[in-house]
Amino acid sequence: MDSSFSAWFRCSDGCDFRAGLTEVVYECPRCGGLLEVEHDRAALARRPAAEWKALFDGRFRLGPWPYGSGVWGKKEWVYPQLAPENVVSMFEGGNPLLRVDRYAREIGLDEVWVKECGVTHTGSFKDLGMTVLVSAVKEMRARGTTIRAVACASTGDTSAALSAYCAAAGIPSVVLLPRGKISTAQLVQPISNGALVLELDTDFDGCMKVVRDLSRTKDIYLANSMNSLRIEGQKTASIEIAQQLGWSSPDWIVIPGGNLGNASAVGKGFVLLKELGLVDRLPRLVVAQAEHANPLWRATAGAGRRAGPEVVVEPITAKRTLASAIQIGAPVSAKRALRALAALDGIVEQATEQELADAAARADRAGLFTCPHTGVALGALEKLAANGTIKRHERVVVVSTAHGLKFADFKVGYHEETLPGIRSPLKNVSVKLAPTLGAVQDAIAARFGRG
Ligand SMILES: *Cc1c(COP(=O)(O)O)cnc(C)c1O
Ligand SMILES: [Zn+2]
Repeated sequence: MDSSFSAWFRCSDGCDFRAGLTEVVYECPRCGGLLEVEHDRAALARRPAAEWKALFDGRFRLGPWPYGSGVWGKKEWVYPQLAPENVVSMFEGGNPLLRVDRYAREIGLDEVWVKECGVTHTGSFKDLGMTVLVSAVKEMRARGTTIRAVACASTGDTSAALSAYCAAAGIPSVVLLPRGKISTAQLVQPISNGALVLELDTDFDGCMKVVRDLSRTKDIYLANSMNSLRIEGQKTASIEIAQQLGWSSPDWIVIPGGNLGNASAVGKGFVLLKELGLVDRLPRLVVAQAEHANPLWRATAGAGRRAGPEVVVEPITAKRTLASAIQIGAPVSAKRALRALAALDGIVEQATEQELADAAARADRAGLFTCPHTGVALGALEKLAANGTIKRHERVVVVSTAHGLKFADFKVGYHEETLPGIRSPLKNVSVKLAPTLGAVQDAIAARFGRG
């Protein structure tokens, strides 16, 4: 069945360059534009929407292998011609879409859902894209292409995903990390998976520059999200959200943005869903940035925070932020994100350090366990709900990008009120007691009153 569909790289800046998905190429050799994966959309459109829905629903979290993966269950829309034996899957995607009514009520909305993209093998949405990229590398190597190793610059989660998928496939991996700027949990993942872990005395943008130069020799394959294979996997998050909402779009989708690959991917997914008739309208998009790393917000501020083709994203030096995975000043996928924002009538919002920390704590009080980047998305959502941009009755989906357990230091710091410059109005402090019934009863009474 796969053979009736096909996909290839094409230049996303409008020239007519094309290449196969197993060619080692990341940018258009003619005009320098980023590439994107294009599909034979006429072939996809020949199958009725109802048949696609039935096919995807029948595979969802079930199988047969590898179709139970959230990504490979949509293989025809992702990488149709990949040989099944080259799929490197860790059963990514298929994560919960949670309805968070207590949190929604607290921020003045009726219906908020959280797509838990961090509930996955390495604890972040990066698995969605990495399964596609590493599978492509396996296919290239099977065809005789020399690839000594796959390399990435990372703010932590990309390196964790790359090293896990490469370890599963027996492919060497190299990760370049900004020294001292990622969490312990993130650092220990590539170490455990046997990657060559290189800590550089610079920031993410500095690591990115080195890895781009490194990958000019074609036997080191570049795994950063400028590589559009990753976008193809990440766009399945949108397909799943629509599927989990009974094949409909929410009114809004809110997502944190750093390098801006994921926002682009989510936009691309909804555009394809609409084009192929699986949903009848597009959601509006909110890209949320940390105020300390806000080049997209700055670029669109003059345009009423809306994106148009006239917007140019100037690189900045990102400041240290609790949302360490989005401490990026020169986003590689800025142009892609601007296109997604234009297609989804989007806006850009930002959250301060205090706002992201409080929003994360507020959501946790309602049962979640959010990473600081999800805190940025929630902080932005709270502002947009408060100023009436997002209306009470509108249905909102927030993309949670990583598991909170990867950021335990952030959590502990908040509740102990030791995060520099941050107050903790929502902190919860443990009570240290003598081991007696009376002391425990007194503590219960102090918190909840006498029975
Ligand atoms: C990578 C990452 C992001 C940002 O995604 P981009 O595609 O770089 O915009 C946000 N949150 C977490 C947890 C991440 O790992
Ligand atoms: Zn081009």
